[in-house]
Amino acid sequence: MNLRRRWAPRARNPERIPVVTTRFAAACWSLRLARVASASVVLLGAVVLTGWMSGSASLIQLLPSWPPMPRNVAASFMLIGIGLLALASRGPRWLVGLCAGLVATVSMLRIAEIVLRVDAGINELLGPSYINVGLVRRGGMSPLAATCFAISAGAMLIAMKQAPHRFAMIMGISGSVVAALGIVAALGFLGGITLAALHTALGLCLLGTGMLALAWRTEGRPAGSPRWLPASAGLAVAMLTAGMWRALVLDGHAPFALLNTVALGGGVLLAPIFALTVYLAQRGHAQAASLRRSEALLAEAQRLSSTGSFSWRVATNMVEYSEQTYRTYDFDPAAPVTLAMIATRIDPDDLHLLEEMIGVARGPGTDLDYEYRLRMADGSVKHLHLVARGTRDRDGLEYIGAIQDVTPRRLAEEALGKVRSELAHVARVSSLGALTASIAHEVNQPLSGILTNAGTCLRMLACDPPNIDGAQETARRTIRDGHRASDVIARLRALFARQPAMTEAVDLNEATREVLALSRSEMQRQRVIVRAELGTDLAQVSGDRVQLQQVILNLLLNAADAMSELDDRPRHLLIRTVGEGDDAARLDVCDVGTGLDSQSMHRLFEAFYTTKAKGMGIGLSVSRSIIERHEGRLWATQNEGAGATFSFRVPAARRLMPMPAH
Ligand code: ADP
Repeated sequence: MNLRRRWAPRARNPERIPVVTTRFAAACWSLRLARVASASVVLLGAVVLTGWMSGSASLIQLLPSWPPMPRNVAASFMLIGIGLLALASRGPRWLVGLCAGLVATVSMLRIAEIVLRVDAGINELLGPSYINVGLVRRGGMSPLAATCFAISAGAMLIAMKQAPHRFAMIMGISGSVVAALGIVAALGFLGGITLAALHTALGLCLLGTGMLALAWRTEGRPAGSPRWLPASAGLAVAMLTAGMWRALVLDGHAPFALLNTVALGGGVLLAPIFALTVYLAQRGHAQAASLRRSEALLAEAQRLSSTGSFSWRVATNMVEYSEQTYRTYDFDPAAPVTLAMIATRIDPDDLHLLEEMIGVARGPGTDLDYEYRLRMADGSVKHLHLVARGTRDRDGLEYIGAIQDVTPRRLAEEALGKVRSELAHVARVSSLGALTASIAHEVNQPLSGILTNAGTCLRMLACDPPNIDGAQETARRTIRDGHRASDVIARLRALFARQPAMTEAVDLNEATREVLALSRSEMQRQRVIVRAELGTDLAQVSGDRVQLQQVILNLLLNAADAMSELDDRPRHLLIRTVGEGDDAARLDVCDVGTGLDSQSMHRLFEAFYTTKAKGMGIGLSVSRSIIERHEGRLWATQNEGAGATFSFRVPAARRLMPMPAH
């Protein structure tokens, strides 16, 4: 069997490769929320900073009696918001590092100022903390705001270097703490006690929400709930409860008289979160179980169909194999697959296909459809069929595909090819049987020529004086007739013999002339008037000359048979060859016989379909398989008038690949 690259007809151009932007659609909402929250945080900071610059007190403190949001808090909001936005949009890492680093430094210095009770001027970094109009007090980054900024900036700095699940855990826990502290600050505000400015509190809530959403987005596995969820929920509830308690105490309530209220409030807050956690955990378990089951089913289906799957990231050359693909290649499942490892398995004759495939993937990036062989360690050969489709996402082009072990099918095809060639032989012998008289005549003609010439030669030599020139001439004719007879015998032997198929350039006209010569007497015996119109502009075709002659012979004999009962008109048979440009050549055999009705038209090429008493019904089916093996087509049409036309078309020599060997 010939192995060659086969392009799938659906091969598509690179711009039609679908663009995958997110791995899990379910994670989209969280990504959007993270972006919206971080953009809002940036906006909040920008608005308040504008207020400071334009001296507009309403932007800085909302109401005259409320505390202001200082310049450094506004700037920190802007910076941390930009950092979070960059993280959520896969922006440059340096930007995340720069923004979070600045905020972390400022907030840590502010915490140090508070703890050590010193004034290092952090609140005045960006200018005076007063403006002339309406500010009730100095602006300063409150301990709560400083803590929140330190937590979020630190978390971003640490998380950005971690693997996705750690990133999610760090961002999730710190995000929920910041959000809870924001709520606490807002509660404190409601309780009449100023823990931070109201818009600072809301900004912190937004910031925490954005961080949490980003954690969910990264965590976005289809099954399972994040492991950090209970810890983050617990911390958030504890902080909220403590914040509420503190707000009430600062509002004038006796701390211990509030114990019941606090326990009740904490419990009420905790209950839905606890219920949600349990629900998510249960759902996660159920989804994981169903995922495991479908994975097992898929693995079993892959094993049964001998089809494995794989993925290949073109930029990094990262290859992932399914269990079945490991089995097909006989690789150790524990070892990661590399292209070099794959190359060691591929049959050396097919290695160029691998190189070509890599070239295609790195170049135009079209879909892949290849057949190639593996040479296993024990020397056995496997035939594989690979199909893959490319998808582009943020990390570049990735191919996902299937590799099927088609060895049994290939072996069956080879066996079928052998049977077919045996059938072809039977068909050939049976059609030659019908030609016996014609063949005898063909051989007889040169033989009687030899006898006549030999007699003449003897007579000429017996003359006195002997006619040497005449004798030489007749001896030459004897030799010519001898060659003619041996040519006929050689042609016959070629047609009778079962030789393997050969690919050569065949002149279709020449091949047709030979068949006509062999069948001339048979046609005369059947009173068929043969007219040959052999085209002059015919390209040579590539194929097996004897097989093509067998098809022509079969069409001729069938045409003669179809006219055997015809007595009211002459039995005309036209054999015609036509060049179809440089690409192909066509041959038609037209008769004026019984023709084809619509019913027989459908069955003509079926094996063993015959309407003749002594027919075998394999001539046309074998002819069609021969022509198809030449990558051509054989078909029949009913003539306008009487009779039918059988035609075949085969591609010209330079367009053909080498023929399959059977
Ligand atoms: P067989 O000649 O042994 O019957 P073939 O496969 O060569 O087997 O042909 C199958 C059938 O196709 C024939 O029996 C005949 O009915 C039909 N057929 C073939 N050639 C012609 C033709 N030129 N005109 C009409 N019918 C034809």
